[in-house]
Parts: sequence; structure tokens; C-alpha cells
Amino acid sequence: MTLHARRLMRTLATHTTEGKTRMINVATITPFDIAKCYMKKAPTDLMGMASALGIRVDNNATFEDKNLSGSIKRCRDGSYQIAINGSDSEQRKRFTLAHELAHFMLHRDIIDSVGLVDDAMYRSGASATEEYQANSLAAELLMPKDLVRLFWKKGLCGIYQLGGAFDASPDAVKIRLRQLGLSP
Ligand SMILES: [Zn+2]
Repeated sequence: MTLHARRLMRTLATHTTEGKTRMINVATITPFDIAKCYMKKAPTDLMGMASALGIRVDNNATFEDKNLSGSIKRCRDGSYQIAINGSDSEQRKRFTLAHELAHFMLHRDIIDSVGLVDDAMYRSGASATEEYQANSLAAELLMPKDLVRLFWKKGLCGIYQLGGAFDASPDAVKIRLRQLGLSP
């Protein structure tokens, strides 16, 4: 690969992670490209994102073990299904959906028919690194950094204000602000 091509690829990758507009070659469209289309305004459209990714979501699943948050598994036809604990709060359900979507985007190779089943602490049998990655990406899907920074600049800085805008819990907002180096 030429130096120019390497630079170009790095540029495209940078634009992808920062959410800037760029031309997308449909032949190489990725789940991340699709996800971005549903992260342009707050609250982000996670159900729309799942649907566009071809993932079915049961947002009110019943788990025998009440200590579970959600799961993602591969079905016989090769499609994927997410189940969210229906007894959790709406905001927690949104984070769980974002976490499972993150597993799909990052760790499809380890999702089988048994699936990844996350407990209340988002531990599923995947490695600690994979859970950390899923939580990090989930935070971005739920509260995209560009949008958070834009709101922050406009003076929408309160934990509860931001939580209301992004339909996220105060704790999730606090963690996100810390990640982005913003303090209320
Ligand atoms: Zn997990």
C-alpha cells in the first residue's frame, strides 16, 4: 500500500469515528456507517438503528434470572436477536440496547446461538476487554460525543438536562461527561 493510500485510509477512519460527513461507497458500507444515520439528533434512534442493521429487538423480554440486563444471539437463519429485560427502567433499557448493539458491531465473531447474556454489571462471558469496548461504544451510541459537545457549548450542561435530551440516566450522563473531559 502506498503512503498516500495509507494516509487516505487513516483520514477516512478519522472521519468515521468523528462522525463527519464523507462520501460512503455502498460496496464497503459498514454497521458503523449505518449506525451514524441514527445518531444525528438526540435522543438517538437505537430501535431504528437495530432495525436498519437487521436485528430484531424484544424490548420487554422476561428473564428467569432477574439479575440479567439483556442478550444478543445469532438465530438459525443467520440473523441476530436482542432481548432486553422488560422489568428495567426505560433509560436502563436504552443503555442495554446500546450495549448489545455494540457487541453486534464489535464482536459478531463470538456471538453464537446461545449468545452473549449480560448480567446487571454487563458481564456476559465475553472478556473484560470486550465488555469495556461494548460499554465505550454503547456510550457513544447513546450520547454521541459531537452532539454532547454541541449541547455543552450551547449551555445545556446540567446532568438532568442532558439526561432528558439523550434519554439517559444521570449516572450514564456523569460517566459520559467525565469520558469527554467535561465537568458539570
Ligand atoms: Zn456485554
